[in-house]
Amino acid sequence: MLCPFCDQSESKVIDSRESPDGVRRRRECLECNLRYTTYERVHDLPLTIVKRDGRRESFSAQKLERSLRTACAKRPLEIAALSKIVVDVESALNRSGKAEIDSRVIGEMVIGRLRQIDRVAYIRFASVYRDFQDITMFAREAEALADDKTVKTNRMNQLTLIPDDAPRLRATRHGQSGHSARL
Ligand SMILES: [Zn+2]
Repeated sequence: MLCPFCDQSESKVIDSRESPDGVRRRRECLECNLRYTTYERVHDLPLTIVKRDGRRESFSAQKLERSLRTACAKRPLEIAALSKIVVDVESALNRSGKAEIDSRVIGEMVIGRLRQIDRVAYIRFASVYRDFQDITMFAREAEALADDKTVKTNRMNQLTLIPDDAPRLRATRHGQSGHSARL
């Protein structure tokens, strides 16, 4: 576990409790003395990830969490929210009972969860995992997101949001059939 503030790995556990999402630990960094919360599983899953180029590697929750943190750098997200995503994904993978899984599937699972809590981090992560072909595709994704009502309504887990892009109310009435009789 790396400290989210200074990246040092040495920490002491101040509090530890079982939760359905894994073991919830309150830690204090030995380097900067700041405190943070993590969700952890005791063991990594015995799961092989098949990467896009066909190479295989073992699943590592720590590695996944690291890439999430990179995507979320400077975003107003609690570190606990990120380790919660990792544990959620691990649980889902565990339930699937598979021995091998496509890296893209894991990427999509993370993306789906990230999307609920932070848009900018979501786009950053998605850009890495979905391997956008070009900038046009990237822009389209960003636009679709700005119009996505689920992001706006699901505020439960949101901490701070960037100001909402004013939803452009498209004139959708043109298409209504009721008026076509008036001629
Ligand atoms: Zn620290």
